[in-house]
Amino acid sequence: MILCKSILELKNLLNSAHHNGKSIGLVPTMGALHEGHASLITACHKENDLTVVSIFVNPTQFGPNEDYEKYPRNLTKDCQTADTAGADIIFSPKPKELYPSNDMTWVEVTGNIVKVLCGRTRPIHFRGVATIITKLFHIINPDKAYFGQKDAQQVEVLKKMVKDLFFPVQLRIMPIIRESDGLAKSSRNTYLTSEQRKAAVVLYKSLQYAKKLFTVGERRPQTLISAVTSMIAAEPLSHIDYVELYGLPGLVPVPTTITQPVLLAVAVKFGETRLIDNIILEAE
Ligand code: AMP
Repeated sequence: MILCKSILELKNLLNSAHHNGKSIGLVPTMGALHEGHASLITACHKENDLTVVSIFVNPTQFGPNEDYEKYPRNLTKDCQTADTAGADIIFSPKPKELYPSNDMTWVEVTGNIVKVLCGRTRPIHFRGVATIITKLFHIINPDKAYFGQKDAQQVEVLKKMVKDLFFPVQLRIMPIIRESDGLAKSSRNTYLTSEQRKAAVVLYKSLQYAKKLFTVGERRPQTLISAVTSMIAAEPLSHIDYVELYGLPGLVPVPTTITQPVLLAVAVKFGETRLIDNIILEAE
């Protein structure tokens, strides 16, 4: 596995792969790699000749009062995790390498898709995500790029961006990897105290409860939202940011009865740590 810090170095490495017709897969990450990231890397390794993993804490997707500075960084450990999972190249540039100018060029998906869910409290987040992924796609020119369903809104935003801007890349969306008690793996789980960690399992439990209701025929969005909300609210350490439900694809509003696949998504704070989780509800 090769660790590469500059765009020039990376392009030189990839040039021969492109010329020899080798398929290139990209797994964009912000590091602090866990089994969720590893599952993406392993899938990429299986489906491509060359697996590139980017490790870059992207400053433009963090708001002014968010955790950019304290976001966990450990490149040595991440390289080991990525190597074991099947990475061939790690691309870990400094911010100046990817953002050489202070006068920014942005890529911005617009509309409801970026205004609901996390977009409501993180108004610049998806502009930062779309911009950094565009830069990575242009530098690497991957055949396939791997993203986790854990960040469901990110998936919808990037699908739209790829479609609208005709990016010649196939997006591969991988399932959420969880701890044994159901908590979705996240780099931010390390911020939780042991009490908060125990309490956080309510996210998974409430989504599973909604799934059970849906399976036995409940199709009223508000009933499902209320069931999840009351279960999470009953956990004293939780502070709900949102519990929302939108139609897929595209996070469209859902009428009074669900007749299409929907995303039920939650964001909940435990102390200062904000966790997200979601489930897709779809009739058999
Ligand atoms: P991040 O480093 O948090 O930006 O995540 C990089 C990629 O890993 C994103 O596509 C995430 O959706 C994905 N990811 C993060 N956590 C998980 C998880 N628990 N299961 C599957 N994919 C995940």
